[in-house]
Amino acid sequence: MHIESGVSLRPHNTFGLPAVAHTLVRVASDADVRRVVDHPTLGAAPVFVLGGGSNIILTRDMPQLVLKVEVMGRRLVETRDNEWIVEAGAGEGWHDFVMWTIEQGLPGLENLALIPGTVGASPVQNIGAYGIELAERFESLDAVDLRTGLTVTLGPEICAFGYRDSVFKHSLAGKVVITRVRFRLPRPWKPVLGYLELERKLAETGFTRPTPQQVANWVIDIRRAKLPDPAVIGNAGSFFKNPVVTPEQCRDIIGRDPEIVHYPMPDGSMKLAAGWMIDACGWKGKSVGQAGVYEKQALVLVNRGDAIGSEVMTLAKAIQESVYGRFGIRLETEPVVV
Ligand SMILES: Cc1cc2nc3c(=O)[nH]c(=O)nc-3n(C[C@H](O)[C@H](O)[C@H](O)COP(=O)(O)OP(=O)(O)OC[C@H]3O[C@@H](n4cnc5c(N)ncnc54)[C@H](O)[C@@H]3O)c2cc1C
Repeated sequence: MHIESGVSLRPHNTFGLPAVAHTLVRVASDADVRRVVDHPTLGAAPVFVLGGGSNIILTRDMPQLVLKVEVMGRRLVETRDNEWIVEAGAGEGWHDFVMWTIEQGLPGLENLALIPGTVGASPVQNIGAYGIELAERFESLDAVDLRTGLTVTLGPEICAFGYRDSVFKHSLAGKVVITRVRFRLPRPWKPVLGYLELERKLAETGFTRPTPQQVANWVIDIRRAKLPDPAVIGNAGSFFKNPVVTPEQCRDIIGRDPEIVHYPMPDGSMKLAAGWMIDACGWKGKSVGQAGVYEKQALVLVNRGDAIGSEVMTLAKAIQESVYGRFGIRLETEPVVV
């Protein structure tokens, strides 16, 4: 356990927003988290759990105790007839872990390559991309309960995964620290290529049986072409969730805006492309102060230099209002606003 005071969080969030943590504690094990819980002063403070800072918008300094999770390690836990179970420490980088599984001959996460952040945060918003969601590969996780200091193992039912959502954004927010996550990787491996841009890659390359590494490379290429690299332009990925509406609502919107991009969902509902709606309202390339809408993808808000959290939220609110005014849809933010 390593305790620091007055820590700038700018290098700890991919949007590059300024904020100072009154106290930041690095935890590298369950025992470290327990030491915090049992500590006479630290144990009484409200906690914010920090991973790689790629899904947070910092709007102010943080009086809470910031716990930076640095639990490491990755291993094959078990080989079953129809799946492998692999485990990684919450502090492992997500992309490095995905590439490690491929190198070890344990594929199944390749569609989620290049998502920034840590393994520990992956269940929090049930990360998803290119046809796969974490929930489809999730076995269980270990977390330390910040009220009792005990390590608990939670399965998928308790995690209550939804679209970019889980129990860790609701009743367990700030109450547990995820320290290890286990994944179920189906064997034999079958590529998941239903996503339009992956189908296009398949057609372009002429491969009939791509390897997991090839699928990962395609995903990486597609992502690099359309998303800004946070190391170059500060951002938090998709800023808004794609709204899910009933087929009737969708028909109504199509009646007024025939070109709206929409996808049918397995349960019969329809998902609307939030980026398309924001673009249709004329926001692409616009700014409020130093916070802007990315030129190549209107779903991504970016830091044009020295943006502060309040500028980002003013821009987000203006976008929400104009989308509501035109489409009658309330966009929800995807990152956690702190
Ligand atoms: C360029 C870019 C592209 C992105 N693309 C995608 C994408 O394709 N799909 C997608 O789903 N997301 C995407 N994201 C969002 C982000 O990468 C993911 O949400 C990621 O899982 C966040 O990880 P993190 O470690 O940075 O979490 P942080 O931002 O540090 O934290 C996010 C939330 O998780 C909580 N948390 C973090 N670690 C723990 C822990 N160990 N225990 C308990 N709570 C914890 C925090 O308190 C906070 O509420 C993208 C972001 C960027 C910048």
